[in-house]
Amino acid sequence: MSKNVYVVIEQRDGRVQNIGYELLGEASSLAFDLKQEVVAVLIGGVGISKIAQELIYWGANHVIVAEDSRLQEYSTLPYSRVLTQIILTDEPEIVLFGASSIGRDLAPRVSARLKTGLTADCTGLSINLDNQLLMMTRPAFGGNLMATICCKHHKPQMATVRTGVMQPIERDDNRTGTIRSIEIAFQRKDFAVELVEVIPNDNISADITKAKYLVGGGRGVGGPEGFKIVRELANTLNGEVAASRAAVESGWIGNDHQVGQTGKTVRPDLYIACGISGAIQHLTGMENSGTIIAINKNASAPIFNVADLGIVGDLHVILPKLNDALKEAKT
Ligand code: FAD
Repeated sequence: MSKNVYVVIEQRDGRVQNIGYELLGEASSLAFDLKQEVVAVLIGGVGISKIAQELIYWGANHVIVAEDSRLQEYSTLPYSRVLTQIILTDEPEIVLFGASSIGRDLAPRVSARLKTGLTADCTGLSINLDNQLLMMTRPAFGGNLMATICCKHHKPQMATVRTGVMQPIERDDNRTGTIRSIEIAFQRKDFAVELVEVIPNDNISADITKAKYLVGGGRGVGGPEGFKIVRELANTLNGEVAASRAAVESGWIGNDHQVGQTGKTVRPDLYIACGISGAIQHLTGMENSGTIIAINKNASAPIFNVADLGIVGDLHVILPKLNDALKEAKT
């Protein structure tokens, strides 16, 4: 019988990525409703087991560790082998992945091998208490509506979950659990693809999902030079610059700054939306921010519906004044 909520932990260079903690938090609440337990699956190179205990502090009841020098760097085929083996042996009820580049590659491969369903890019998960099924919610039809999907006839129920949407539970080093190492029965074909070199991207900008303060620019900033005043305000706040897809597609700023359905989900303490109309696909990525301030010259822009504070006017006039006032307040 299928049992327990499994979380595939994403780690890079032995560091658990935030999405791992977020999924453990969400899995704890799903497991509570199912009266089952949370199992973290940790895959990596030699030495990875050192971080297994930490996953227990963050909510895992059990950790399964697949440690092998050939698993040092992520690669689709060997990682799929590990997960397929674990799932076929343990028969989990639910398996969760992050909707990161790794999760988006790995989850469909594993679900196809297991001939089960997969709901990608979920922004909400819950248990239907009548039938114990996982309800997986995600934007559909270009973000114009939210679809709730369930996988009735196949197990495990699998989902990838957007980063920054779920909340971790508090770390508690009094939590206890079990750690189990497993051997994987690799086949030669699992290593058909050879990873020659990993080249780190040094040009990558700061991670907007971790920023406490975000200043977002949209088409209304008018061009790449318009982002200068957006960036100045972000610097004054010790924050980062975010952007709408319109600004990214215009080539005014890199796509790692994009917030929204096809960008990143952010939850800063403060989000200042400048010249962003507030299309549903943008709101999906930022509406859970602590405080939202919108600056827009159109008083009926939908961004004002989610804003805690709205300023109607030209951002080119307002932003420099706001920036000067903040700088003055800081001195
Ligand atoms: P506009 O909608 O053109 O709005 C510009 C705003 O600036 C207007 O409200 C205007 O009044 C205001 N403005 C103009 N000049 C000034 C000024 N001087 N001062 C103050 N205000 C001014 N969008 C995203 O952002 N993220 C996504 O991830 C995303 N994913 C998508 C996925 C799909 C499948 C689809 C179909 C669309 C997606 N979009 C996404 C696009 C989205 O629908 C909108 O087109 C986009 O968000 C609009 O960007 P914007 O608000 O910057 O531009």
